[in-house]
Amino acid sequence: MEYKVLDYKIHLSNNVLDVLSKNRQITNSNFEIGGQLFGYKIDKDFFISDATVSNKVDKKSSISFFPNIIADQDEIDIFYKNGYDFLGNWHTHPQNIPCPSPIDIATMIDRYKKSKHGLNFYVLIIVGKTEFPKGISINIVNDKIIGAKLND
Ligand SMILES: [Zn+2]
Repeated sequence: MEYKVLDYKIHLSNNVLDVLSKNRQITNSNFEIGGQLFGYKIDKDFFISDATVSNKVDKKSSISFFPNIIADQDEIDIFYKNGYDFLGNWHTHPQNIPCPSPIDIATMIDRYKKSKHGLNFYVLIIVGKTEFPKGISINIVNDKIIGAKLND
């Protein structure tokens, strides 16, 4: 699946779509779940090849997701050794058509600003209950957030 934002393109591999789709919060009793996005960038194309699922989460609830920063950093180091960059985060929402919350946006902007990287932005994916492509929200974040559009 391919998304357009400004003059960038974000490509999601089938592997990533599988992981995200499998973890959708189909019932309201499911907890929010999420993880990190890895891949590589060639000019204006972002290829997201892997989506991890965080097991070591500090706190999970049906309305918020707080990943464990240290476990996340270990994962980033391992992917980096294999040539893949951290490109962003994903998590589920108990919404049919998902959109990021103000806290999601503030957290991502903060992470972008505080991290060392050579990226123009991070990607924030919110996964809703509806099947894709409707049930997925792709956003890019730097010092602000912009929603991406599915490429026709
Ligand atoms: Zn959220």
